[in-house]
Amino acid sequence: MATALALAAPTITDALRARRLLAGHLPATPVWSYPTLNAAVGGGTTVFVKHENAQPTGAFKVRGGLNLLAGMDEAARARGIVGYSTGNHAQSLAYAAARFGAPCVIVMPAAPNPVKAAAVRALGAELVEAGADLAEAAAEAERIAAVRGMRLVSAGDEPALIAGVATAYLELFEQQPGLDAVIVPVGGGSGAAAACLVAAAVAPDCEVVAVQAAGAPAAHDSWEAGGAPVSRPIRTRAEGLATGCSFALPQSLIRRRLAEFLLVSDEEIARAQWLMMREAHTLCEGAGAAALAGLLSRPGRFAGRRVAVMCTGGNAGEAEIRAVVGHS
Ligand SMILES: *Cc1c(COP(=O)(O)O)cnc(C)c1O
Repeated sequence: MATALALAAPTITDALRARRLLAGHLPATPVWSYPTLNAAVGGGTTVFVKHENAQPTGAFKVRGGLNLLAGMDEAARARGIVGYSTGNHAQSLAYAAARFGAPCVIVMPAAPNPVKAAAVRALGAELVEAGADLAEAAAEAERIAAVRGMRLVSAGDEPALIAGVATAYLELFEQQPGLDAVIVPVGGGSGAAAACLVAAAVAPDCEVVAVQAAGAPAAHDSWEAGGAPVSRPIRTRAEGLATGCSFALPQSLIRRRLAEFLLVSDEEIARAQWLMMREAHTLCEGAGAAALAGLLSRPGRFAGRRVAVMCTGGNAGEAEIRAVVGHS
């Protein structure tokens, strides 16, 4: 598909419009600071946790899904949407489609995580298992969209998803003015793109720092290469960060505004998951704790500063939860 270059990047106006569209659907998520978490981080850093795990689908992506559906005209909604995903993107689209009464097909690679598959079915979407990996699932989604006349939703190059996700950062900068930095976990990069877009407009002194799993560094390597398209193998357990290629649209938004792009190991992520559980009473999936892992990887850099970490999701499977508790 040669559409990437034709996509107009979302603007702060699109983010403000998304906030109006989402107002009746999602309350603001809380931002909390925990003294014992601050003590565990050390260095006089004050940590603010933005609790996107408190979304109805357990992850921030629902903001993008709802904004996408809200912006479609009635005829397009009636034809429906097709997405491909192993997890939270699927739940976001299924949730939004159900809210707007639109048909929704989700293609997952064969033998998906049973918890996430069940969640998608429970939201009323049609689940198709096809292909050995996400690229093959995407090809099947493309075919279904063409045959049924449904709208194919990309995993990364979707202005409406970025504008929807940007509402999290509009909230954050109002809830916690005077932040020195916000740390954002990255898979495809829509969250980091949204953070850059909003920070540039309303919190120009706040650094945006991205974090990716060292085991799946496509977006990181693309950013370091000035936005050139990059594919990398996936060797991380953090499903929300397991993206094998970079996306042009989010890369174009983070290219100049991102202060730094950190990489963390799965071991560092697991330690951060445990700290979030112990000190912030919060169950994170790996991706949801990656921002804290990034902070912990660079204690000197953030010493004495006011730093928000995006707790992007809480959809940990049972085996993952048991492993995190055992990690202590
Ligand atoms: C998708 C996801 C991410 C990564 O977000 P991108 O917008 O793809 O960079 C981070 N955390 C969680 C929980 C996710 O589901």
